[in-house]
Formats: sequence, C-alpha cells, structure tokens
Amino acid sequence: MRLGVLGKTDKLMTVGSGRESFTADIPIMKIRGVVVIPGSTFKGVLRRSAMKVSPLLNIKNCFDFGLTFPCATTRSGGVCPVCKVFGLSGEDTSPLQVTDLRYVKSEEEALRLWRERMLVPLGDENPTITRLVRIRIDDSTQTSAEGALFESEALPPGTLFYGEIRLSRALLKKAGVDVNEASRLVLAALADLSYERIGRGGLMTFKVVGSEGIPEDEESKMLLDMLVKRW
Ligand SMILES: [Zn+2]
Repeated sequence: MRLGVLGKTDKLMTVGSGRESFTADIPIMKIRGVVVIPGSTFKGVLRRSAMKVSPLLNIKNCFDFGLTFPCATTRSGGVCPVCKVFGLSGEDTSPLQVTDLRYVKSEEEALRLWRERMLVPLGDENPTITRLVRIRIDDSTQTSAEGALFESEALPPGTLFYGEIRLSRALLKKAGVDVNEASRLVLAALADLSYERIGRGGLMTFKVVGSEGIPEDEESKMLLDMLVKRW
C-alpha cells in the first residue's frame, strides 16, 4: 500500500542539520542546497507515535513483551508487531518505507508528486527561511551564557512538505504481521502525529493526499477518511 502525505508546519520552527550547538525544532538536510526533512527523522517520529497508539488498537508493542523500546535488536527483526512493521533503525528492509519529505508550494504540487510517484527531479526552490537571533542558555545555570547571541534559521508556519509511506504486503507476510493490523497502525500513528513532536519542539500536522491498496476494513476506512479531510 502507498500513502501520499502532506505535512504542514503549525508554528515557526527552527531548523538545523543536527550538528549545530543549539537545539533545532526540526533536523533538515540540504540536497544540492534544497531543504529536505530526512525520511529517517519522519520514520522515527511515526514509530514513536505508533508505539503510543498501539494499545488503543489492541496491537501489542515492545512493552507487552517486557522489553525496552525498540525490541528489534537482531537482524531477524522485532518481536512485537510495531517493530516488525518498522524494522530496525538504520535498516532499510522493513515492510514500512518512508521517503524524505520534500518542500512543496501547494497541495497541487504534492498531488503531482503523488501521480509521478516522486520520480520528479528535486527542484531548486526552498521555503522562505527566516533568520532569528536567539540567546544561548547555559544548561547548568539556566541563565544566558556569555557571548550568547547567535543566529538560527526558521521555517514559517504553513510551510508544506510532501513524502510517501509505503507498506509492502509481501514483507508484512514474511514478518508474520496482518496487513489490516499494519494498515490501522500506520494510519492511526499518522493521525496522532499532529500532537507528536517532530524533532525537539516543532509540530507538524499531516493529511493524506493520495492512497492506494489500503485495506477495506471499517477502521482503516474511517482513519483514512479523517486523514484526507484534515484541512
Ligand atoms: Zn517492539
């Protein structure tokens, strides 16, 4: 199954590559100068969200096996259904695959990427990036550190990013996970993600702009309908 998802920043979000000395709301990378949210970042927050919503869906997670998160510690895959779907971190053979999130100017542009399966060369357009002067706080004293003014970059609220989530039925079957269960888990995790932090402090809301191969059970249909009508 394939989901085209459009993410929208809900507030001013500072961005960083993860190497800076300040804490960015959202880690980004630049591919030939173009801002991209790494798929690994997106997959990581989606996984945390899946852990959180799994008990509501009666889907077992790591803690039901008395294990720490994540329970996937060997190459043979995880123990709980969440880890079986999301796989090992840094491993790209899991049933669930997530692309990088690309900046788009409009929902129409996102729909074009959906139709073309993202096989469109990365453009050279970037979102409007605001420069902010911030104050570095000394962690130990909670006061501003000496020489503490520094600049950081931020994305304005309403900035749009498009990416895709793909679930392989064959790999789910191999991992012994029910397709309907996996679909409900991913849709519910995506729906709950609006309340989940992307990176350290930022919030993004997601809607579905394209879908194919989603199971027809009532819960999946209800979740998908809600995600399509997000805004
Ligand atoms: Zn697990």
